[in-house]
Amino acid sequence: MRILVTGGAGYIGSHTVRQLLAAGHEVTVYDNLEAGHRAAVPAGSLVVGDLRDVDHLDQLLLVNRIEAVVHFAALAYVGESVTNPAKYYTTNLIYALHLLDRCRRNGVQKFVFSSTCATYGVPQTVPIAEDEPQAPVNPYGNTKLAFERALADYAGAYPFGYCALRYFNASGAAEDGSLGEHHDPETHLIPIVIQAATGKRPHVEVFGTDYPTPDGTCVRDYIHVDDLARAHVLALGALTPGAKLAYNVGTGRGYSVLEVIRTVEEVTGLKVPVKHGPRRAGDPPALVAKADKIRAELGWAPKFDSLRAIVETAWRWHKAHPNGYGE
Ligand code: UDP
Repeated sequence: MRILVTGGAGYIGSHTVRQLLAAGHEVTVYDNLEAGHRAAVPAGSLVVGDLRDVDHLDQLLLVNRIEAVVHFAALAYVGESVTNPAKYYTTNLIYALHLLDRCRRNGVQKFVFSSTCATYGVPQTVPIAEDEPQAPVNPYGNTKLAFERALADYAGAYPFGYCALRYFNASGAAEDGSLGEHHDPETHLIPIVIQAATGKRPHVEVFGTDYPTPDGTCVRDYIHVDDLARAHVLALGALTPGAKLAYNVGTGRGYSVLEVIRTVEEVTGLKVPVKHGPRRAGDPPALVAKADKIRAELGWAPKFDSLRAIVETAWRWHKAHPNGYGE
């Protein structure tokens, strides 16, 4: 298939691009390199461009005869979305809607979308199944849910199928240490704990120790980025016109913040300086996927089924690239 991958030079995007190429697809990466990294994608695949440049996108869809779009390009800092919702609605919704409509006009019939467990807000039932009510508690989740709805409406009206993949906590790195997580600023727990272990940060602050969880800290479902990437490849294979697919992508097992810290200590052999702090606004106590649907319907299963295995890959990446992509 000829596939356009927006945001393909980012963390999850770059791992997915590698798998799409390995599966024999023709891939065009469209990335403005604000959060993505040139070194994360093969040079021949990359077109540097911005989502707001609709004419550029239009031309790419036409000239490259694109059959499917995998849309990663988005903003994903929950806290920033609360203080600057305009930025999030503009990028995650307005630009995404322009892209979607250009897909319609250019006859693109398959669309895979990076959605999120943040669309569930504070779930009533954990583990969370796909039919859990979607009630986001922050603008980031609202923009992602709004776009899921637009996809459903398009699939109802046009010869078009989509798959929304609701990610849980993407983590880890390519097994060979050549691709990994590099955000600026870094807000994600596992890289922060590794940085604290190696002295790049003075400590890790645990955001809340009074949650109604076994050890009082938040529980999350950490899913390896290559397992997440494989879900996109399988989703593309399953899409047919009119398909309206939505899957949770998680392991089904949760780990607390303290368990993550302990695992990093075990894997690295280093002591992690820890400070206990207040809760971070908008953090639900526990987010764990019920991921039976994607297993049953797409035959997907995580290869990295323990936190330790995931942290080992993150550690390998960190040791090989202590400054990330170093750009
Ligand atoms: N967390 C923490 N200290 C940090 C960063 C994160 O205690 O410096 C906690 C956070 O409150 C959440 C979990 O670690 O419960 C995972 O956070 P992350 O930002 O990695 O992902 P999120 O769940 O927000 O998508």
